[in-house]
Amino acid sequence: MDNQDRIKRLLNYKTLLNQLQNLGFVKVFSDNIADALGVSASLVRKDFAIFGIAGSQKGGYEIASIVGKINDILGKNKEQKVVLVGVGRLGTAFLQFGKGFHNEGIKVVAAFDINPEKVDETKEIPVLPMAKLSEFVQENEIKFAIVTVPEAAGRQTIELLMSENIRGILNFTSLKIKSTDKTIINNVDIEHELARLIYNVNQLYNED
Ligand code: NAD
Repeated sequence: MDNQDRIKRLLNYKTLLNQLQNLGFVKVFSDNIADALGVSASLVRKDFAIFGIAGSQKGGYEIASIVGKINDILGKNKEQKVVLVGVGRLGTAFLQFGKGFHNEGIKVVAAFDINPEKVDETKEIPVLPMAKLSEFVQENEIKFAIVTVPEAAGRQTIELLMSENIRGILNFTSLKIKSTDKTIINNVDIEHELARLIYNVNQLYNED
């Protein structure tokens, strides 16, 4: 079983368990989770066992303890500091969404741009000049970056981040850059995702 599929299921489990908690539930059975998410109960139990989440046949699982464990696995119990490079239309949208990420333990702590007019160190999430990137990343032990620069600046930006020991990069430029031994690069392509969605919907409804 692909580990990425399992991580996606963990995120689904977590969303469901948060909803159950909000409704006042304390315990849950694998059958309940399976029914709600359209997977088999044995798969839920297998996922939980693999990640060391224990429950009992009779009593089910303590929701709070599964949520805590899933957060541990996803690294959400520890604040994950992220920097963003390229404060244009897309980058600004991310910065404005900043609070939405905080709930999940992800914090965009600073942004960087080559254009001096974009620089504003007084903002809640400061926009700093590129010349300060190296020092900031080292001092704040930053491991993650979002790249929203134009395509022409993409490779150079990603190489710079890699040279600063950034371990994970979410790349929004249209360049498809491969991960290395040291840095995982996730290339995000919304057009690609839309095309995939449209294809799947058309398959489902047998339309062109
Ligand atoms: P934009 O032109 O509005 O903003 C780009 C910003 O990057 C500007 O503020 C610019 O000053 C800055 N910049 C340029 N060169 C830089 C460098 N070397 N170092 C640091 N900053 C630099 O662009 P946008 O519309 O926000 O798009 C940003 C990127 O996202 C583009 O590559 C675009 O193709 C891509 N994009 C991707 C998707 C997707 O699905 N992945 C969707 C929309 C846009």
